[in-house]
Amino acid sequence: MVNFNRKMVRVDKNKCIGCGACIATCGEVFELKDGKSYVKKGQENSKAPCVKEAVDGCPVQAISG
Ligand code: SF4
Repeated sequence: MVNFNRKMVRVDKNKCIGCGACIATCGEVFELKDGKSYVKKGQENSKAPCVKEAVDGCPVQAISG
């Protein structure tokens, strides 16, 4: 069952252009691998304030969280 109260942080790999902005903004949650941003293991449910900054700062709106 899906818990709608728990927002998952995720990166749309089809949109991500690997600019690195989210890593610079929120390196505790995101990492760059092979030119794409990934949510670090164990950070999928992160409530870190910088996640929102990363969402707002992504030039191609690839991050949801
Ligand atoms: Fe990819 Fe957006 Fe992060 Fe840039 S800011 S690396 S486009 S997810």
